Amino acid sequence: MPGKSRFLNEYLSWDLWDIVVVGHQFDEERSGYQTEHTYEEVVAHKGEKFVRLWLHETRENGPRGGIDVEQHSESEITEEEYLQASSGKPLEDTEEDRCNFGKAKAEERRRAELYSRLLAQAPLCPSDDRRMRPMEGKFGVFWACPRSNCRKTQGMTAKEKRLYNGRE
Ligand SMILES: [Zn+2]
Repeated sequence: MPGKSRFLNEYLSWDLWDIVVVGHQFDEERSGYQTEHTYEEVVAHKGEKFVRLWLHETRENGPRGGIDVEQHSESEITEEEYLQASSGKPLEDTEEDRCNFGKAKAEERRRAELYSRLLAQAPLCPSDDRRMRPMEGKFGVFWACPRSNCRKTQGMTAKEKRLYNGRE
């Protein structure tokens, strides 16, 4: 059974595979807004190499709260060290996880590509020559002038709508 760290997507985005959690620590600050710190230590393959990596997540519960995930440190280890540290522990990632992550990334890139193609063919506002932007309304997407006190809008063609929705 894979362990399923909740940082799996971060690890995959750092090109890690055959990831094994070897340490996990959670701290909560007693004072103030109780900032939570989660540390996780993993060993993994990275390309042809082996690495040991620390991740640090800060979760701020205050009024300006937020979550910050950072890669704390990474060092190269030997295959022997990897095998020793990971021995008897479950892998976090499966072939399927890696495949899904790769597909999601590719889909994201494809959509971004189509969206920038759409922006490149945006019409100009007839009043002030600004490049119009896609805007979502009650009846779907349309072109709107980005200038706040200009209310010019224009319908999108079927082809433009397809690009907006991620279809060619
Ligand atoms: Zn305008």
